[in-house]
Amino acid sequence: MTDQDTLRRFIFEQAGVRGEWLKLTDSWQAVSDNHAYPPEVKEQLGHAVAAATMLAATIKFNGALVLQAQGEGPLKAVVAQCTHDRCIRGLARYREPVVAGDLSQLYGSGRLVLTIETERKQPYQGIVTLDGDNLAQALENYYQQSEQLPTRLWLFANETTVSGLFLQALPESSGFGSDWERIVMLADTISADELLDLSCEAVLHRLFHEETVRLFQPESIRFKCSCSNGKIERTLKSLGRIALEEILEERDAITVDCEFCNQQYRFDRVDVERLLIAETDLGTSKISH
Ligand SMILES: [Zn+2]
Repeated sequence: MTDQDTLRRFIFEQAGVRGEWLKLTDSWQAVSDNHAYPPEVKEQLGHAVAAATMLAATIKFNGALVLQAQGEGPLKAVVAQCTHDRCIRGLARYREPVVAGDLSQLYGSGRLVLTIETERKQPYQGIVTLDGDNLAQALENYYQQSEQLPTRLWLFANETTVSGLFLQALPESSGFGSDWERIVMLADTISADELLDLSCEAVLHRLFHEETVRLFQPESIRFKCSCSNGKIERTLKSLGRIALEEILEERDAITVDCEFCNQQYRFDRVDVERLLIAETDLGTSKISH
């Protein structure tokens, strides 16, 4: 099937509005199949994955955009990440029972944190209260507060598919308020079933056949976890020799599971000793600099 695991950007050139359409199937199943999430949790994770993917596509950067919704309610944390090369991963932490509801019922008093991690610079971080009926609304508030750019999102998720629609007024288009309102009104007629089932072209035709829309080339999205032996090693090193040796007194090896992909990393005594020696070397080279 075409149009699966795909993001399409589009633009209403005359109206000064940009948009994105998203559908994830295999990549979404790869994210969610790593855990036996209840349907309500899975839906929230799907919204977060869709949002992170679409937000990452709005910016030019080299790194990862991380969306984190955190609270004290039944849903404790939902994390979704999308890199500049369109690799996604995500996870949810919760305590049962999780009953469908608005954000305050799901998260209690929560907050939404958006982080853009790049290799060189300090990460950018934006935080907003987790208010509203759903994640889409919380993000609309975020854009209102942080960028003052009218933005709307439609996020839907089920067992097999995640889909999303994103609209944003371009900064230079402030004089065209009525265009923005008309386009949003048209988009608001989309149903969850339509957005989950239809192709991008079909959605754009269904909503905007009277508008002039320029549609860009499809971009592929895939699931790929960014965990690695090296990253786990750095975490272990930071714990220090005493802590690591204490763990090894009780067992043969230190095992670390990646929460995103369930990959297990195992470090026995020899591995840990190698790590700690490498740490010393690093220290020496620092001094000689
Ligand atoms: Zn992983």
